[in-house]
Amino acid sequence: MPLAVFDLDGTLVDQASAARSWAGEFVARWGLPVKASDLVAAALTERVSKQLVFDRIVEEWSLPLSGAEIWAAYRTRMPQLVQCASEDKEALTELRAAGWSVGIATNGMPDNQEGKIRATGLAELIDGWVISGEVGIRKPDPRIFGVLAQRLCCALDGWMVGDSLEHDVMGGMAAGLQTAWIAPLNAPVPAGSARFDIRQTSVAEAVGAILTI
Ligand SMILES: [Mg+2]
Repeated sequence: MPLAVFDLDGTLVDQASAARSWAGEFVARWGLPVKASDLVAAALTERVSKQLVFDRIVEEWSLPLSGAEIWAAYRTRMPQLVQCASEDKEALTELRAAGWSVGIATNGMPDNQEGKIRATGLAELIDGWVISGEVGIRKPDPRIFGVLAQRLCCALDGWMVGDSLEHDVMGGMAAGLQTAWIAPLNAPVPAGSARFDIRQTSVAEAVGAILTI
């Protein structure tokens, strides 16, 4: 049975817009300047540790709580804010009906990532998942895909679909998977980046392509 692996944030769920919603709530809660909302949302989509982001926020606005406390509150709230498009959910169902094993490989903290997988209903549409914080292996380390294949009792043979050239495409390639890069139509391919097999704008489109290849 072929394996299809999906990234979570920015691929199956709209992490960036959920982070904007969270930042808006946070700024209102603490009475911070409105422009702080954009700064917080931008910081939350940076490729730096969330602990560092929240420590900086506490310092910048002299908040009476720790970065670790805000981070924990963020992980509790985010699963309620992310969404998965209905056409992407239908595509996963279609893929499974066609005999594929379907899983998620995501970098992050187990409470936040599993919370998102369950709150969006993705848990019922897939065969399993692996979260970096739970296994101590982060994409692009190809071993994380091996852990997922083992959990799903299938061969590490199929596709990796994700929005990160570094984590998903490079990692998937290193694991011997074919790769689909999810990116807006006009997004440039950075020089020297990993070579993907196909490029699509959504999970639904990627699944459509994979099923016809
Ligand atoms: Mg991603």
